[in-house]
Amino acid sequence: MHSQHFKIGIIGGGAAGLMSAISAGESGCKNIALFEGNVRCGTKILMSGGTRCNVTNKSVTPKQFFGGNRNFIKNVLSAFNDQRTIQFFKSIGVELKLEPTGKYFPVDNEAKSVLNALIRKANEYNVQIFHSTKINDIKFDDNKFEIHSGDKKFYCNKVILTTGGKSYPSTGSDGSGYGLAHKFSHSINPLFPALSPILLDEPIIKQLSGITIPAALILFLNNKKEISFTDSLLFTHFGISGPAVLNISREVERLKNEKIKLALNVIPQYNSEEFRDEIKEQKQINPDRSIGNYLKQFVPERLSNALIEITGIDTGKKLKRISNSEMKTLIECFTNYNLKFFGVKGFSQAEATAGGIPLDEVKYQSLESRFQPGLFFAGEILDVDGLLGGYNFQWAWSSGYVAGKAAASNN
Ligand SMILES: Cc1cc2nc3c(=O)[nH]c(=O)nc-3n(C[C@H](O)[C@H](O)[C@H](O)COP(=O)(O)OP(=O)(O)OC[C@H]3O[C@@H](n4cnc5c(N)ncnc54)[C@H](O)[C@@H]3O)c2cc1C
Repeated sequence: MHSQHFKIGIIGGGAAGLMSAISAGESGCKNIALFEGNVRCGTKILMSGGTRCNVTNKSVTPKQFFGGNRNFIKNVLSAFNDQRTIQFFKSIGVELKLEPTGKYFPVDNEAKSVLNALIRKANEYNVQIFHSTKINDIKFDDNKFEIHSGDKKFYCNKVILTTGGKSYPSTGSDGSGYGLAHKFSHSINPLFPALSPILLDEPIIKQLSGITIPAALILFLNNKKEISFTDSLLFTHFGISGPAVLNISREVERLKNEKIKLALNVIPQYNSEEFRDEIKEQKQINPDRSIGNYLKQFVPERLSNALIEITGIDTGKKLKRISNSEMKTLIECFTNYNLKFFGVKGFSQAEATAGGIPLDEVKYQSLESRFQPGLFFAGEILDVDGLLGGYNFQWAWSSGYVAGKAAASNN
């Protein structure tokens, strides 16, 4: 049986694994191995941000993150914050640009520039990268970790687990890392998809596939507003997607067994009272105008006609003939539409995994396990997930930096 010994072994070559390797190298460790189950590292980096890679955001605070304790998250983020991230990427040859949405992307809009630069930097520190090396077993024996990939065996003084979550399992992030953590008695907070499209039970709305609008989505729990997002929304053949939807999907999934309601406002510049005033005024000014002709100025015509169809009102009906109860129904339909949904699309198309290794099982200064000295965690395997906008990568860079540096100390 083949075996080699390393000071630090990193399991998982995604964003957090590569950053951990670089951070450990920068901290002076000269004998680092990175084990990647896939044929190449960083598949998610390559597909991220529509292959442009949204590296970070101009406003990173713990509020954009869910999962474990926000003070813990704050500590990790501040050890390697967004500004440091921007400088770091510049130092490895990737200049980032800020877009009006607050998101940072590489100036050449190429996710592969980000990945190539990380690999180049890891190579500078002589990190030995083992591709197609999926780790399927790990134990701690005789003061060192013994890790297995098929019939190959590796020994490491310290191990950093950066195997990611279980969304888009085709990328290699299939959740196998949780089993490795479990070998050291770590528990796993319930896993569920975050940043996922939502499946609708709305035959008329599903015909609107391809339309994108600015919209507000509001989630009510027991008739009380729980959370809302105003951003763009895309109608698809199965339901809805786009930033507003992906961001709210986490809570839709988390609260799926509770009494929840998902309301859609397709004209977020108005609330229902303002929209009522607007229609009333129009009735006065333009009584002979048809309701269809009037409402198409607010949203694409296909959408306004579909919503009018749902109310059962004829699109040709003149404004002066719209009754008070019809007006109420129309206002409700445009500003507070109660979406009938089946649930979220799931791990196959979620951009992140909620849940994971509980933060109270690791030390916040080092991300070292409280159960197994020498074992560290970084990235999405931990119970932290962020909103859309570069936050998940920021977590990977920050936590990778902390874990790599800590693992390299006293090596
Ligand atoms: C389509 C898509 C687009 C996204 N776009 C963005 C974006 O623009 N901005 C943003 O901030 N976030 C984005 N994300 C989220 C972001 O990609 C992840 O949060 C981030 O990649 C997590 O980094 P990680 O290193 O923890 O895990 P991963 O990137 O998932 O890496 C884990 C690695 O470990 C390997 N691995 C798993 N198990 C084993 C094992 N047993 N042995 C060896 N190797 C193993 C996997 O093959 C993988 O390479 C996107 C996600 C998706 C799916």
